[in-house]
Amino acid sequence: MKKLAFLILLLPVALAFGQQKPTMTMKPEMTEIWEPEIPVVSPGAAYGDLPGDAISLFNGKNLDEEWTNRNGEKPGWKVENDAVTVVKGTGEIRTKRKFNSFQLHIEWRSPAEVSGESQGRGNSGVFLQGIYEVQVLDNYNNRTYRNGQAGSLYKQYPPLVNVCRKPGEWQTYDIIYNAPVFKADGSYLVPPHVTVLQNGVLVQNNVALRGPTEYIGIPEYTVKPHGAESIVLQDHGNPVSFRNIWIREIL
Ligand code: MG
Repeated sequence: MKKLAFLILLLPVALAFGQQKPTMTMKPEMTEIWEPEIPVVSPGAAYGDLPGDAISLFNGKNLDEEWTNRNGEKPGWKVENDAVTVVKGTGEIRTKRKFNSFQLHIEWRSPAEVSGESQGRGNSGVFLQGIYEVQVLDNYNNRTYRNGQAGSLYKQYPPLVNVCRKPGEWQTYDIIYNAPVFKADGSYLVPPHVTVLQNGVLVQNNVALRGPTEYIGIPEYTVKPHGAESIVLQDHGNPVSFRNIWIREIL
């Protein structure tokens, strides 16, 4: 009886050996895929430069082409020296174009002259599809709650590291955003996923959002279905600047 049990135990092992892949009949070219050919894209000359297939969202001269304020009117932010700066009280600015999944490059600068502390210092934000905020904040020697500092998905995911440059220096965000898929009841079938590099350093590694990023309350209860939406930049009352904004849609 013991012998039989031993043989039964060995049976899966024997079967596994019997199912070995028929590698002897395979040739290398049988696993090569040639068509369709990968699209050719010209890279930017240097890191952060616009690649050949990207859409520029800011021409450095004015906001007329690509941006409006919350009410669909001309934005009140100030444009000079290839940068656009928040003008306190004029409200957010939104892209006229709407996007689903994308790769976004955006450069930002908190004011060289430091004023305020915690969330009151160089605060703005990049809202993905209008409701998911990647926090912009001057966290160079400036403590705040960890899930609200620069590079956080506001109040959902703290950044992996604090890689902030000094106030007044330009910084980069490279954001890879995969839009959600909704169930019929309006909840997520697949939540939005976000990866963020700040100054070339990974600060968010493919995190799954739980809902819109909320100032107050738990995001799970506020999900509403949406389609393609604008990129929104926040007026939090601090004169934060932005430049070199471009996007590549992920189709
Ligand atoms: Mg903010």
